[in-house]
Amino acid sequence: MSALDKLLDCNATVTIGTTPFGKGHFNIIAGPCAIETPIQMQHCGRILRENHLTVMRGGLFKPRSSPDAFQGLGAAGIDLIREIKAEYGVSFVTEALSEQSLDTILPVADAIQIGTRNAQNYELLKAVGSCGKPVILKRGYAMTYAEWLSSAAYVASTGCRDIILCERGMRTVTEVTRYSLDVGAIAYGKQHLSIPVIADPSHPAGKRNLVLPLAYSSIAAGADGLLVEITDMPEACLCDGEQGLPHTDLATLTQKAPALHALIQS
Ligand code: PEP
Ligand code: MN
Repeated sequence: MSALDKLLDCNATVTIGTTPFGKGHFNIIAGPCAIETPIQMQHCGRILRENHLTVMRGGLFKPRSSPDAFQGLGAAGIDLIREIKAEYGVSFVTEALSEQSLDTILPVADAIQIGTRNAQNYELLKAVGSCGKPVILKRGYAMTYAEWLSSAAYVASTGCRDIILCERGMRTVTEVTRYSLDVGAIAYGKQHLSIPVIADPSHPAGKRNLVLPLAYSSIAAGADGLLVEITDMPEACLCDGEQGLPHTDLATLTQKAPALHALIQS
């Protein structure tokens, strides 16, 4: 069987912890951009609980454009994930930057995120494909749809059957947003593949007041879920504070999104 055939044969519903995505199941993954402090994590845990969300996100290893920027807590933050999972009963999605960081996060991660900058790191894609956990594969910000599929095929080639594609915006001439969310690719993916396709409206928005419109557009295009960054303390964030949704907006999103998804799918 070719790698592409393996991809086409992957699961239509992917479950992270106990939370399903795809084939009619819509869910929202929310959390900070980077895991920073116990207080921040507790605050996010409470927000997820209030909104009945069961999957948290947050980076321990951060791929920053500048080497001088905060790189994440790394292995030192593993216990923060462990504690938040135990206290709030959430599953956890976090990013692997390398095979080494994959080994570090495996004991606590319920799904592994591959970020936009590593979407064509083929050795990492093969490693993550054989790690035994579901994989959320973001699209590289300058990758064609076909290249994105090839990367997903790398993950599938080593036996992984739980792959979620995540559109997170392309580099274009736009100046008013950070990236251009390719909603057409979400729609196309849903029409040509059986695996779940979700959207990250936070990174293309770049600013919190643009996140909800991009989230709703993604759902209208057929997305099976969302991956969103949240914060109530944007000035204190060491990473991506400007695009973090405040808890009030997350409440609006969690209230409206499932209904919009149901309407679009009906
Ligand atoms: C993230 O999700 O925090 C992240 C770094 O995303 P991306 O790889 O899409 O930039
Ligand atoms: Mn981020």
